[in-house]
Amino acid sequence: MNFTRRDAIKMGAVGVVSAAIAGGLSGCSKAEASPSKEQGSAKKLGKHTVVIIGGGFGGLTVANNLKKKNKNLDVLVIEKRDTFMSCPVSNTYLGKLDGINLGTFVFDYAQPIEKYGYKMCQSEVLGIDRKNKTVTTAKGVIGYDILVLSPGIAYSYETQFPTWSKEKIEEAKRTAPAALIPGSEHVALERMLSNMDDGDIVITVPNGKFRCPPAPFERACMIAAYMEKEDIQGKVIILNPKEKFAKYGAFMESFKDLYKDRIVYVPNAKVDDVDLKNKVISYTQEIEDDFETKKVIRKSIKYEVLNLMPTNKANPVIEMAELKTTSDTFHKVLMNGCSFQTATDKDVYAVGDVVGHAIPPSGQTAVWAGKQCAAEILARLAGKAYTLPVKKKAVHAGNVCYSMVGDNPEEGIMVTHDFSWTGKTIKGKGHVPRAASGKFRSTGTAKALHDWYSGITADLFS
Ligand SMILES: Cc1cc2nc3c(=O)[nH]c(=O)nc-3n(C[C@H](O)[C@H](O)[C@H](O)COP(=O)(O)OP(=O)(O)OC[C@H]3O[C@@H](n4cnc5c(N)ncnc54)[C@H](O)[C@@H]3O)c2cc1C
Repeated sequence: MNFTRRDAIKMGAVGVVSAAIAGGLSGCSKAEASPSKEQGSAKKLGKHTVVIIGGGFGGLTVANNLKKKNKNLDVLVIEKRDTFMSCPVSNTYLGKLDGINLGTFVFDYAQPIEKYGYKMCQSEVLGIDRKNKTVTTAKGVIGYDILVLSPGIAYSYETQFPTWSKEKIEEAKRTAPAALIPGSEHVALERMLSNMDDGDIVITVPNGKFRCPPAPFERACMIAAYMEKEDIQGKVIILNPKEKFAKYGAFMESFKDLYKDRIVYVPNAKVDDVDLKNKVISYTQEIEDDFETKKVIRKSIKYEVLNLMPTNKANPVIEMAELKTTSDTFHKVLMNGCSFQTATDKDVYAVGDVVGHAIPPSGQTAVWAGKQCAAEILARLAGKAYTLPVKKKAVHAGNVCYSMVGDNPEEGIMVTHDFSWTGKTIKGKGHVPRAASGKFRSTGTAKALHDWYSGITADLFS
């Protein structure tokens, strides 16, 4: 399929390739990075056929699949970070599993740019003007014909702790890192674990919808494994505002078999406050006694390390685009039927954790959606009608999500999701398989986890 200048004009693109954004990392050069972050730069950096916001799992998949099928297509990725860091498998870093180090998670963007030939602008997006089809970054204004949003999540401490000051929120981010967004939070949490004395570690599960629902529980297993290895005296206490969670049976089996005296699971526990200075967390737990009478228990516990995962929400880039979203606190993007086009604007697509379909927010789902989205865009640019295959036939194991639960030997559990079109949304139906042993966890699943991660990162980066 050839993308011609005529196709670009069909899309309303005039002057598709800008001299300022000639290719590769020079997309918006460092020399242009002078204006204040708040205002962005009014400097015009040219226009691209497809502009993708977010160089994470979803965004990079869209970019490389567009270029794999049409090497002449003018694709620009805007990403605020200069290195890619993976959240998947990062919990094994906290567990200090053999052979895992920071290099397992960090990748440079130069390699995929060379391999696939898309352009990249390393800058933060500060605004989106859908009427004029422009994106304002800290380095300048970029035009688009088609915009794809894959900006991931942000934290919403304000929703969960409305009485906290800005200073307290900043202090919580620093001293009790959530580590749900790639970057230095994972490193900070690992440092705190490495430096800790004996004592308890508290993990709080976010309220509402959140990124990678099994992640807090995999993290609990990995931290418990680390404490066992280092002979650290203390418990891993999980405070969950809900009763159950993703892969519940499989995790509970591992907690009981592997970490009986280590992991304490506290369901229906809502965090009330944290005294960050004295390292005390207070929560309210609702329990039912044998006569089904509800009781409320208030407790405060001292912690050595706190992994405070607050309420999640869609990244502010979604708000900047003024798209219609779900009415919950997450604000997922409403989609245009069986498609990755948004319901609000036919020229704006969304993939990754912000997508409003009923599919799990995972890296694997973001990759699946990224491929579907690229196929939709390519067909559109070629002037062809296109129906997502999932509309006609359910997709088996569209998402496979592994969690490492054991060390020495490494053992993993998994969930697979089949995706299907309900007539209203693309929906995922989960299945948590047992191994031949009758247990949920197995060494084979742990190996599959490593193989999955090698495959997915090889596709994005090598
Ligand atoms: C601990 C943990 C473990 C996980 N394990 C797994 C797993 O085993 N398997 C699995 O499938 N998934 C896993 N996930 C989930 C997975 O990480 C996410 O679902 C996936 O990253 C979502 O992809 P995305 O493209 O939506 O967002 P991201 O991958 O987060 O990418 C978003 C990108 O947008 C950029 N961005 C944001 N705002 C701006 C802006 N204003 N300007 C420019 N750039 C911006 C960000 O820097 C980021 O690079 C895990 C997550 C966590 C936290």
